[in-house]
Amino acid sequence: MPQDVYDKIMMLCKRRGFIYPSFDIYGGVAGFYDYGPLGSQVKNNIENLWRRFYVLKDGCIEINTPIITLYEVLKASGHVDEFTDLTVHCGKCKQFYKVEDILEKGVSVEEALKKNLLRCPRCGMVLKNVSPVNLMFSTKIGIGEGRKAFLRPETAQGIFTNFHFLYRFAREKLPIGVVQIGKGYRNEVSPRQGMIRLREFSMAEAEIFFDPTNKTHSDFEKVKDKKLFLFDNEKEMKLSLREAVKNKVVDNQALAYYMYLTQEFLLSAGVDPKKFRFRKHAKDELAHYARECWDAELFSERFGWVECVGIADRSAYDLSSHIKSSGVDMYALRRYDKTKTVKKKKIVPNMSTLGPLFKEKAGRIKTLLENIDVTSEVDEISVNIDGEKIEIPKDCYKIVETEEKVSGEKFIPHVIEPSYGIDRILYMILEHNYMETKKKEEEYRVLRLKPGIAPVKTGVFPLVNDDKLVEIAKKIDNDLRDAGVITYYDDSGSIGRRYARMDEIGTPFCVTVDHDTIVDNTVTIRDRDTTRQVRKKIEDVVDYIKEKIGFLV
Ligand SMILES: [Zn+2]
Repeated sequence: MPQDVYDKIMMLCKRRGFIYPSFDIYGGVAGFYDYGPLGSQVKNNIENLWRRFYVLKDGCIEINTPIITLYEVLKASGHVDEFTDLTVHCGKCKQFYKVEDILEKGVSVEEALKKNLLRCPRCGMVLKNVSPVNLMFSTKIGIGEGRKAFLRPETAQGIFTNFHFLYRFAREKLPIGVVQIGKGYRNEVSPRQGMIRLREFSMAEAEIFFDPTNKTHSDFEKVKDKKLFLFDNEKEMKLSLREAVKNKVVDNQALAYYMYLTQEFLLSAGVDPKKFRFRKHAKDELAHYARECWDAELFSERFGWVECVGIADRSAYDLSSHIKSSGVDMYALRRYDKTKTVKKKKIVPNMSTLGPLFKEKAGRIKTLLENIDVTSEVDEISVNIDGEKIEIPKDCYKIVETEEKVSGEKFIPHVIEPSYGIDRILYMILEHNYMETKKKEEEYRVLRLKPGIAPVKTGVFPLVNDDKLVEIAKKIDNDLRDAGVITYYDDSGSIGRRYARMDEIGTPFCVTVDHDTIVDNTVTIRDRDTTRQVRKKIEDVVDYIKEKIGFLV
């Protein structure tokens, strides 16, 4: 079978220590990859570049929460019920398949079942028993019965369950942007797309909390004339942020702004602009929490257009669910100019009857009761706990009329979420920058990685193994490392071979110490992309390289 670009890149990645299948000595498992020494560097560089955009430029705060997540959190978020794939089982082959993978394009599941079109790809048997399967890895906390938990399917829930704390941290002012970079898990039915469909993956997510009456962004004015590459499932178009919002192609300024930030990040990371677009989700493909969603898609020769970033307007979905099921006040306050005095009806729980009646649930019921808005005459009061509706007897509370000084109006913030799949982005950057030529009848490979993303920034070589040249080269190597530039010192093989080794892993610059160096104190610096060489004074090498790299992440 002829190799396509994916095979070629994955071979290079394995040989040179970027990425390779996990548990290789035991035959590997689909959906898991290890990052080797160079791959880990590239991944760190991409994540740190992302931080430059979100934490440095946009002013988001970064947190870190556990991977193992309580059942209650993911029940409230909807993942226990909704994070599923429709699967089908072949009893003969003992195999599970994702229905989507074996369904003919344009045929609905109902139609396929009715006309016996769903067949086992192995034995051809007609398959019938279609059922949704939850894709979370489950575990438990503690021994014995323990507490039910899952490996998180997204980092976002760790941010939502922190909101009341982060709101105070940000001195109760919206918008607040909170980010988290870390692992997410999805127990794919039968992943067959290599790096594109992983069971354990790295994500970078930002949750931007807004007042829903004000989905604007303070930097929108600065960038409103920049163009976005959009695709609405029918036609591709280039619209400025201003036009996109004005014509309601994109719902609001904030959403458009984060699309722009995403585009800037991906292009700075080395994505080919011709292989990039934003695609709008059709109504029927929106996730259970999303109001509007745009995917940043990158084009791959093997996989076609691949979703690498999802930018969703999650509205108030997550916070309302967590308020409802935890009973904790996670509202924000829209402040009035002056405090107002208002007449209010309030529920005052009567703990002497509530306590004995509801025991360990009494505390949560008390909080829920106190948060109920009593606006009209009410006959009965009920609360929801863990999905169960509990009616509260009349002797457990009283309704009193009070006068209260209020400084503002409570509301649930809306959330705009840019969510990045780091592994996919990393693979796409490799594919978009992989170049192949022939040199002296041999295949010659170059990874044209941006200097900021490249795992090694500079190769340092003595032209020959001469004590004087080696001493100078090692000194330059040290000076570069002291300045934070990752180098690779190489003194073996012809200079051509050494360049080739560096080109193949994307090293943007090579410094060579030769016989002239001893005479005039200069070295050659070769540029990977132009292969042009310039001569520079030794004392200028560090500054020259640092300036060329642009920034170190
Ligand atoms: Zn079968």
